[in-house]
Amino acid sequence: MLSAHQAESMILGVVQPLIDPEVTSLLHAQQRILAQDIVSSLDFPYWDNSAMDGYAVRYQDLKGCHPDQPITLDIVAEIPAGTCPQRELTAGQAARIFTGAMLPEGADTVVMQEQTQRLGDRVQILTCPQSGAFVRPKGAYYQAGTPVLAQGMVLTPPDIAILATVQCSEIPVYRRPKVAILSTGNELIAPDQPLQPGQIVDSNRYALAALVEATGAEVRLLDPVGDQQADLRAAIAEAIRSADMVISSGGVSVGDYDYVDQVLAELKAELHVRSVAVKPGKPLTVATFPPQNTPQPVLYFGLPGNPVSALVSFWRFVQPALRKLSGQRSPWGPTFVEARTQHPLPAGGSRETYLWGQLSLKAGRYEFAIAGGSHSSGNLINLAQTNGLAVLPLDHPALEAGETVQVMQVGTVTL
Ligand code: AMP
Ligand code: MG
Repeated sequence: MLSAHQAESMILGVVQPLIDPEVTSLLHAQQRILAQDIVSSLDFPYWDNSAMDGYAVRYQDLKGCHPDQPITLDIVAEIPAGTCPQRELTAGQAARIFTGAMLPEGADTVVMQEQTQRLGDRVQILTCPQSGAFVRPKGAYYQAGTPVLAQGMVLTPPDIAILATVQCSEIPVYRRPKVAILSTGNELIAPDQPLQPGQIVDSNRYALAALVEATGAEVRLLDPVGDQQADLRAAIAEAIRSADMVISSGGVSVGDYDYVDQVLAELKAELHVRSVAVKPGKPLTVATFPPQNTPQPVLYFGLPGNPVSALVSFWRFVQPALRKLSGQRSPWGPTFVEARTQHPLPAGGSRETYLWGQLSLKAGRYEFAIAGGSHSSGNLINLAQTNGLAVLPLDHPALEAGETVQVMQVGTVTL
């Protein structure tokens, strides 16, 4: 059986990024992955401009300026933001200027209006500023011709502001992976169906759809399939034709009705992983199908059906694969942080153990609070608000409250 680390390397080794570029707009760029380095032909700021409301001046005119000995300049222009100054300042002249407005030729310094006194067409400068004060010089923040954003970045709101600023409104991004989600099990019903004895609501399809979407991929929800081998074969054969990745849950264990591995073999998939030494989530099937409609092989993840196992397997193994598939830059794997456990934690046992709970930051240190209630892989109720999984290595002794533990971050950390 592979260790978690070996399984992760094996999985990342078979994933080939989809590198089909397409173009998106600024309003749809959030979380898309940049397909090229962005290089602009514009400097930023585009031109010298004022950082304050005040007066644009020539620094050399202010020599000896002091509150007891103010210097008086002629106001020869008014330059609101968005206009182009029409004249050059010469000796003894100032221009009324506003934040963001272009500096006139000749000016090199801005005096904030609080340091001046207006006298009709003239202005008294009361305090001598530093040379170049309150000027945002052309190209001070970015020089044309240099990369501003790099290929493989996941675009965030600040990146989108940058793209707008450099007038990149047709943004080259990779197409989103299409991920088909399939639940298997005779016992599964939809949330709005009446529950009969022995049945369970198919929660995995919704959790997995949300996880896939949060990773930036496109979800294709398939109809659940019962535990009939022929039906499963037909569903998987259909799924791989229309998706870059297929995620199924259920049917990968050793029970008589667990047909996923058999069906994958019948369909000539190459099996890479059958099980991983982790708890929860030991049964995990990872396979590839030869390329169907794209140059990349189709990836298949057969997750265990237990709701917690399915989620943990997604976080630990599917999400990194999906990130790499999308064309994201590495690292693709989860973030692990060191945290102080607020409660005692049980010993690690014969498999790497993941305990769910809440990760928070207190006085600059991560803290982990294990979820109360049963840590059974069938108990999804105490998964509520999980944002961290404490990882106990193989045979690790139990931990006391206050000791340090590695925590895999799976959501936003609370303060
Ligand atoms: P399996 O992996 O098929 O042996 O299923 C393991 C456990 O997970 C069983 O108790 C199933 O009823 C449950 N299970 C399987 N699929 C789902 C699902 N889609 N949603 C919720 N529970 C499930
Ligand atoms: Mg089953």
